[in-house]
Amino acid sequence: MKDFVDFLNINALFTDEERLVYQTVHDFVEKEVKPIIADYFEKGEFPLHLVKTMGGLGFLGSTLNEYGGAGLSNVAYGLINQELERGDSGLRSFVSVQSSLVIYPIYTFGSERQKEKYLPGLISGDLIGCFGLTEPDYGSNPGGMKTRAVKKGDRWILNGTKMWITNSSISDIAIIWAKTDDGIQGFIVERGMQGFSTPEIKHKLSLRASVTGEIVLEDVEVPEENRLPGAKGLKYPLMCLTQARYGIGWGAIGSAMDCYTTAVSYANERVQFDVPIARFQLVQKKLADMLTELTKAQLLAFHVGRLKDKGEHTHQMISMLKMNNVRIALNIARTARDILGANGISLEYPVIRHMVNLESVKTYEGTEDIHTLVLGQYITGFQAFNPFKK
Ligand SMILES: Cc1cc2nc3c(=O)[nH]c(=O)nc-3n(C[C@H](O)[C@H](O)[C@H](O)COP(=O)(O)OP(=O)(O)OC[C@H]3O[C@@H](n4cnc5c(N)ncnc54)[C@H](O)[C@@H]3O)c2cc1C
Repeated sequence: MKDFVDFLNINALFTDEERLVYQTVHDFVEKEVKPIIADYFEKGEFPLHLVKTMGGLGFLGSTLNEYGGAGLSNVAYGLINQELERGDSGLRSFVSVQSSLVIYPIYTFGSERQKEKYLPGLISGDLIGCFGLTEPDYGSNPGGMKTRAVKKGDRWILNGTKMWITNSSISDIAIIWAKTDDGIQGFIVERGMQGFSTPEIKHKLSLRASVTGEIVLEDVEVPEENRLPGAKGLKYPLMCLTQARYGIGWGAIGSAMDCYTTAVSYANERVQFDVPIARFQLVQKKLADMLTELTKAQLLAFHVGRLKDKGEHTHQMISMLKMNNVRIALNIARTARDILGANGISLEYPVIRHMVNLESVKTYEGTEDIHTLVLGQYITGFQAFNPFKK
């Protein structure tokens, strides 16, 4: 497998289909993403023209067998995320949101009519979706959300503001989580419904090749048929996040791999004190630590992926995967940036782009702290999200 950093021969554990998926996404990233992505990042634009190609190649909703999905394993889905993020976290964020936060809830909690209406278009890339959970005052604690849905005959009236929403201004539909008299519920809100707007968030220095925005809901009337019938309670948006966090655990490996391979080739070429810097022990120590952490992250992702294929994973395993792999990816990116010296801050190389992207990846889908607390609760039995709560 070309360009696959594979110290422990993990390649041998993949199926032929998974290797083929790897190669397909790898080639797509080399041909379509790498040549343009630094420009898009600099302009602060998402390469929207790639969405239909990604749909056509089976990257969206790829684990589904129905509605046009490719029916791939969770490991193959992980490899899609890994390779896309080797290109840029923005592209992987798009696929994570579309697959895990829009297609997954419609498939898992939606009505037959909703599945037939939305899934084929979302899987082919003809429709784009977003997921509105976070609010200006409620990030790590989404259960406190202020967005409300009130039933009025056969319609729901939605009011509230969602913040930091990936894909918001390019979405055809939004999965909106809102409080009702019957607990938190999910609604499919379509662009064009009166009172629905999606102002873009500007001035980001991270995930610049990704669209992030608000969702403003002002007396938006949503028909009852657009409510997700199988989801009542905070548990359901959190189930979506578990899916997305799994893909992020793999995606982080991709940016780490790109930073590591860039640092290795740079160290071999860059001459200081008359020798390539790769000959210095301090540089070798940095590279050795990078490869070790990268390899451990690969094993964690692969093993959780196989457990997920058998339905034997837990959300705490996925918290560990997301927390660890993003942490090591950020450390690898920072070390690679250091090895590249001044070139480490230039967009001529991918490292600084990955590094600043990973700052967002560390925060979204549960911050590193929140996943630490998930594991803390698993270990001790005590919740420490709010240590002041009896
Ligand atoms: C680029 C980007 C894209 C995003 N896309 C989406 C999207 O598509 N949909 C969506 O719904 N959301 C999205 N988000 C929002 C993201 O999920 C939130 O930013 C995240 O949950 C953190 O919330 P917050 O920013 O409000 O930080 P806060 O919750 O305010 O946290 C601030 C700090 O306090 C810490 N903290 C919070 N609670 C505790 C605690 N109990 N114990 C210890 N420390 C704590 C946090 O770890 C963090 O360090 C996105 C964010 C970004 C940056």
